[in-house]
Amino acid sequence: MSGADDAAPPRAPAIPVLRVADLRKYYAVGGAAPVGVANYVHAVDGVSFEIGVGETLGLVGESGCGKSTVGKCIMRLVEPTGGSIELAGEDITRLRRRDLQPARRQIQMVFQDPYSSLNPRQTAETVVGEPMLVHGTASGRERKERVSALFDAVGLRPEQMSKFPHEFSGGQRQRIGIARALALNPKLIVCDEPVSALDVSIQAQVLNLLIELQDKLKLSYLFIAHDLAVVAHISHRIAVMYLGRIVEMAPKAALFERPLHPYTEALLSAVPLPNPRAERGRRIILKGDVASPIHRPTGCHFHPRCPYAFDRCKRETPALRPVTNGHWSACHLNEGGAGSQPAFSGMTAATDAAP
Ligand code: SF4
Repeated sequence: MSGADDAAPPRAPAIPVLRVADLRKYYAVGGAAPVGVANYVHAVDGVSFEIGVGETLGLVGESGCGKSTVGKCIMRLVEPTGGSIELAGEDITRLRRRDLQPARRQIQMVFQDPYSSLNPRQTAETVVGEPMLVHGTASGRERKERVSALFDAVGLRPEQMSKFPHEFSGGQRQRIGIARALALNPKLIVCDEPVSALDVSIQAQVLNLLIELQDKLKLSYLFIAHDLAVVAHISHRIAVMYLGRIVEMAPKAALFERPLHPYTEALLSAVPLPNPRAERGRRIILKGDVASPIHRPTGCHFHPRCPYAFDRCKRETPALRPVTNGHWSACHLNEGGAGSQPAFSGMTAATDAAP
């Protein structure tokens, strides 16, 4: 049997700002387990990837697949069970809290909900200036000037600095969250569903702002989202997660043109096309629900829902392996290497086409 641990982590095209290797996060749960035998939620189970300078890696998957836990482990908001996290070559996985301070300056986070992630009792100036106060990087007039420049950079007017969060719209609040994330000149920003709480009309504005800031500041992003269309807008490469593992990772164009994992193919089929006629018969409806991360299916965790599953899939876990240049897949159907992988869309599958 082969596992995801057998494969080296997929390489980013540039010098990595972030290198995550075999990251694992398990939570012990109570319940019906016999005394002395714990059940575990395998929230993240052997995730490896790198992010280069100025690169965006999109991490996509259904709710509960472990993508947000990956982000929290990288931020050390939750402690990983195993594996390693390197920031610009420094292993930060087991740094003690007080030794984490310099690393914390280099990795910042933008949260999903701009309504609850800002303190309603603080002015926007205090919110954005707080990281500089906590880390002692700027004080007094210098901090005020820096906050003013950050407001300008995210498309807000400096005269709005004295307002409170409730006086801003949802999109403006997320701009404040981005300004706060930029306050310490980070190398990497973990964006955890940063636009999913916003109206569709505002989403593109915030995504375009993130792209603009990346170009100017050479930022790297780990962009976590459930919506593949949103991820596609901003990402250079995309990693697809299912039940705690990465099942496919590739440059964006390669992933969209030729998905090499049946789960990715199903996700792509749900992305709306501009031409409604082209939608007919295209949608792949997966059977069943995502399995429990406590009692995961044997072998390939996707096999109960996979339209191409065969006997071996129930027994052996496919490793995440390179299939073509920079394109990785964890599926037994791709094990022949470059040029041998099937095009899933050309295969006969027991899928239900949408009417
Ligand atoms: Fe489907 Fe088998 Fe590939 Fe898993 S290994 S995705 S079950 S074909």
